[in-house]
Formats: sequence, structure tokens, C-alpha cells
Amino acid sequence: MNYVSTRNPVSATGLSAAIAAGLAPDGGLYVPDALPRLAPADFDDCTTLPAIATRLLEPFFAGDALAAALPAICAEAFDFPAPLVALATPRDYVLELFHGPTAAFKDFGARFLAACLARLQRDARRPLTILVATSGDTGAAVAAAFHRQPGLRVVVLYPDGRVSPRQAHQLGCFGDNVHTYKVAGAFDDCQRMVKHALGDASLQSAVPLSSANSISLGRLLPQMSYYAAASLAHWRKDRGVLDVVIPTGNLGNALAAILARACGLPLGRIVLATNANDVLPQFFDGGDYAPRASVATLANAMDVGAPSNFERLRWLYPDDGRLRREFRAIGVDDDAIRATIARRYRDHGEVFCPHTATAVRVLEGLRAEGVQGDWAVVSTAHPAKFDSVVEPLIGRGVEIPPSLAALLERPAHAQPLAADDAALDTALRGLQ
Ligand SMILES: *Cc1c(COP(=O)(O)O)cnc(C)c1O
Repeated sequence: MNYVSTRNPVSATGLSAAIAAGLAPDGGLYVPDALPRLAPADFDDCTTLPAIATRLLEPFFAGDALAAALPAICAEAFDFPAPLVALATPRDYVLELFHGPTAAFKDFGARFLAACLARLQRDARRPLTILVATSGDTGAAVAAAFHRQPGLRVVVLYPDGRVSPRQAHQLGCFGDNVHTYKVAGAFDDCQRMVKHALGDASLQSAVPLSSANSISLGRLLPQMSYYAAASLAHWRKDRGVLDVVIPTGNLGNALAAILARACGLPLGRIVLATNANDVLPQFFDGGDYAPRASVATLANAMDVGAPSNFERLRWLYPDDGRLRREFRAIGVDDDAIRATIARRYRDHGEVFCPHTATAVRVLEGLRAEGVQGDWAVVSTAHPAKFDSVVEPLIGRGVEIPPSLAALLERPAHAQPLAADDAALDTALRGLQ
């Protein structure tokens, strides 16, 4: 299969090159030049998540240097479960995507990308340095996934004092080939410094650099796997489709569900839940697509004012009218997030992170409208990652999952860095 830019459907690239590059040279996003058509019966002999992922992704890897390694990549990246669990309310489920090393769904994409790049780097003379600016979850997932991968290094930049103590600890606890810097500035400064470094040809020739942000194909494609596994598990029970509500920021997770459905997996309706950053709800309600600066909310990993994968959604549905008929997007403000976390615990003993709570609230609204069917809310993070929000609302501590506890027990260290391009340039050139 070949990959083309959303801005230029003519010039084709192979999968490995598209994964290594991140962004297409014209600034567009890589998309497959055709989508495979699969039926549930094509997965009849696949029972585990890695087996389902391998069958689903085979056509996307066909003809590429990584094709032969695909089963091993899937086994290595998806070595933790993604269970579909019943909620207390009838015909409602939760798809738990937080059983990976950093307790958020980004572990799936980050680990798959790392497994791909480690193989592509095998014969490289010089290490490839993955640069990430993070406001929390992405940096931890990428650091965990690339930790001790030969031929690869990670440089994480986070805004000093603007991530939670638990997040700062996770970012700084790896060491070895992971270099963590606390930047004297805001997240936007970190992002600007990363962009500048990635675009600096002289720096790139001295220190080969790549990124691992949510537009990377190496993160997007594997995320289809858990939607395939959940919808097939549901299909195998009674031949019904599974409807989903997905907490959405940059649209990476939701786009994976949309692609999985387009490939023929038994998913039904797909509804997007956002926080108070309501660019998508406004568009799907008939307004213009109007990206703007983000506002801070309790579901901070979804604080996005210009969803980076929107361009891929428009590639898949070039007609806005059709796109608006296919999906709904519903915004949930901080008061509703708080109320949902408190009420679900009080009434049902269920504990959700603030991101998952947006989807739970949206599903409650759909049920109140009389919407039928079997629905899964997608849980993007474990509530223990957001203890400072969740614990006061439920009036008790949240138990920390073992993988996260192991990280929090390691000593953590981050080097201070000035919020300017020259400081990052010096740090990168000085890496051992
Ligand atoms: C990144 C993230 C999201 C948003 O995912 P997108 O792919 O950007 O839409 C939601 N919840 C959590 C916990 C996240 O880390």
C-alpha cells in the first residue's frame, strides 16, 4: 500500500518512509491511497489483540520493508489488554484503554511507533532522536515506549510547574536514553522550540531528529486495533454492532475508530465528546470549522483548539454536509465533568478520569434522548493519573495501578532549560 499527503493525492510514499517522516513534505498528513475492505469473518481465527491487530494492519503494511515484522511488532506493542467491560447502566460498556505502562491510551500508539522505528533504525549509524513537547500524557507514553530502544533517543520538553507532580515524576523517571527537560515557560514555548529544531537543517544534519506527535501514521494506524478487537468481541456475542463515544482532542483516537469502521469492522454510530473546547461541536452543529486558541479544562489532554487530525477527516469525507450527517460532536464543560464523576461514583461506585467522564456524560445525554443500542464509552486514562481532580469529588483515594506505581517508585530527574531555541540547540548537540 502507498501513502499520499492530504494536500497532494499524487506523490506516493511507502509506509516506512511515511512513519519515519511524520509530516508530509508539503505540510499535509499522510493517508493510505486506498482502504482495505475486511469482514468480521476475516478475523475468525484471530482471538487475541495482537492477532486481530496483525490481520487488520497486514494490508496497510503490504509491500513495505516492515511487513514481515508486523506480527512481532503487534505482539511487542500490545502486550497489555483492552477489555470491554459492562457498566452498571443497561447496554452501556466501557472500553478500558488504560492498562499500558503509563495508564493512558497513548501507550498503544507510542509502543507501536517505537517498535516500528527500532526496526527501521537497526542498521543506522547514528541514533535517531525523538523530540516531544508535552503537557502530560504524550511525553510519558513516548518516553516509556522508547526507553532503552537501541538506536533511538527521546528528548522530552515539559513546562516547568505546569504539569501535575505525578505527571512530572513520570516524565523524569526513565533516564538512560530518555532526556527530560523542564522548560522555564509554557507548553506553547515547548512546542515552538520543538518545531524550530525539527525545521533546522543544520541541526538535523548534526543530530537526526524526528517527532512522535498525534499526526504520526505510526500512532494512528495501530489505534484501529482496539476498536477492531472490541467490536469483534461484541459481534461474536449476538451479531450486533457496537456504538462508541470517544473523548476527543486532536482527533487521533476518534479517527482510528472512523478508519476501522470504514475498513468494515462492526462499529455503528461514532460520537465525539469534547470538553469546553468546542470547535468540533460547533462544526458538526452546522457552523464553520473555526480553529482557535485552546482554553484550560479539567480534561487537559483534550485542551485542543485546532484538532490536528481534522484534515484527515476531511480527506475521508470531502463533503461537509455528508461529514456532518455521519458524526455528532458534543461538548461537556467542567461543571458537568465534576458532576458526572461524583454522581457515577455515588450511584454506581464507578470511578472515571475527567476525559472519560466527558464521554460518560455524552452517553447519558444520548440515552435521555431515547437513543437505543449497545454503546461503549472509551476510557482514555486511569483515574489515578488525575487524582487531584478525582479524589476530592469521590471523597476517597484512587488505587494506583501497578504499572504506574512502578514508575512512581523510580527516582525522577529533569534538567532545567531556558525557553529559547538556542538553549535546545545546545542541549541537543551536547547529547551523548
Ligand atoms: C491524548 C488524550 C486524549 C485525546 O486524544 P486525541 O487522540 O488527541 O483526540 C483524551 N484523553 C486522554 C487521557 C489523552 O491522553
